Amino acid sequence: MITINESYLKLQASYLFAEIKNRTTAFQEAHPDREVIKLGIGDVTRPLPPACIEAFHRGVDEMADAKTFRGYGPEQGYEFLREKIARHDYQARGADIAPDEIFISDGAKCDNGNIQEIFSRDITIAIPDPVYPVYVDTNVMAGRTGEYDQGRYSGLVYLEGTRENGFIPDLPREKADLIYLCYPNNPTGATISKAGLRQWVDYARENKALILYDAAYESFIRDDELPRTIYEIEGAREVAVEFRSFSKTAGFTGTRCAFTVVPKSCVAYTVAGEAQPLHALWYRRQSTKFNGVSYPVQKAAEAVYSEAGQQQAKSLIDYYLRNAALIRREMSSLGFECIGGENSPYIWIDGGSDSWQFFDRLLEKAAVVCTPGAGFGKCGQGYIRISAFNEYENVESAMARIREALS
Ligand code: PLP
Repeated sequence: MITINESYLKLQASYLFAEIKNRTTAFQEAHPDREVIKLGIGDVTRPLPPACIEAFHRGVDEMADAKTFRGYGPEQGYEFLREKIARHDYQARGADIAPDEIFISDGAKCDNGNIQEIFSRDITIAIPDPVYPVYVDTNVMAGRTGEYDQGRYSGLVYLEGTRENGFIPDLPREKADLIYLCYPNNPTGATISKAGLRQWVDYARENKALILYDAAYESFIRDDELPRTIYEIEGAREVAVEFRSFSKTAGFTGTRCAFTVVPKSCVAYTVAGEAQPLHALWYRRQSTKFNGVSYPVQKAAEAVYSEAGQQQAKSLIDYYLRNAALIRREMSSLGFECIGGENSPYIWIDGGSDSWQFFDRLLEKAAVVCTPGAGFGKCGQGYIRISAFNEYENVESAMARIREALS
């Protein structure tokens, strides 16, 4: 008899986005004359930078010619891309990361989700609340949690983000082995200072723990004081793996290219306490289960680092940051407390009531769709997330409608 991994049965149905869709559809059916503006989405709306498109086309042309055709590429990704990432994203910021410590992949979601399989089942995992759900669900699938009850799985350590701590969780009181951090944060838009991040690195070093640092929104950081990578923090090379993505940096959500940094000095331990380099394990995992990102896509990603690509990618992010600034300004002037939106595409808004009630209010009165914070965890209750990924005109109209409806 074939049996299943019963941990899958513990997973909660993806209630959040299904429920948003249901309520939005019901509203549209009841009000066919009203145009709904969706500010709930975490996907980009603007096309790829021209420099990427040109490189993408050239890559495709090379595949059409027997002299330049390429079959399987290196599982870790082409050297031409890893070398540019190491130089521009790390060495230029004083972070000592070498090209062979970078693994190109088809998404930060996959890497975030897959990495847990190189750790043992009985480690203690610390996960932020509110949270990007991939960190939780992949550990549920792996059997690292108990049952779900009242918004929480038993067996996980929840790092609570609250108004009091500005959605930067305090260090856990209990000992955690694997810690998920995400800055700039999805969903709260909160950013962490170097001093704040140093505390986590020090905690990990003292406790022989590992930090999984999701920096998918790094390119939204405009404040020079904020760390762009965890490797700006001394000692992080021993205790942190970092995830990055071209999805939001350069509009690659539909093109798929990302990377994970596993420094060679980063270790985890055998039960007997012997240090094992994670680089070798992740290399083995990737070369066994992954066959690389397509050549034209890696060429397109490489073009992000050309002079034109850098400038075009920056103006792409500037576009969304202009939306974010407008949302933050408008919502603040209506008296709502806002987090994020300054070095992040997300604005986390204290709605002063139940998240779903606030969602309904915006939908009914302004025909604007947001994301209820309660869907990201218990600590998200009372908040909503508004996303800046949209066309500026839509954001302007949505804000005008909200102002009219709520003031
Ligand atoms: N990490 C965070 C925090 C995200 O919000 C997202 C996408 O929304 C991802 C990772 C996924 O990135 P990718 O498109 O590279 O899979």
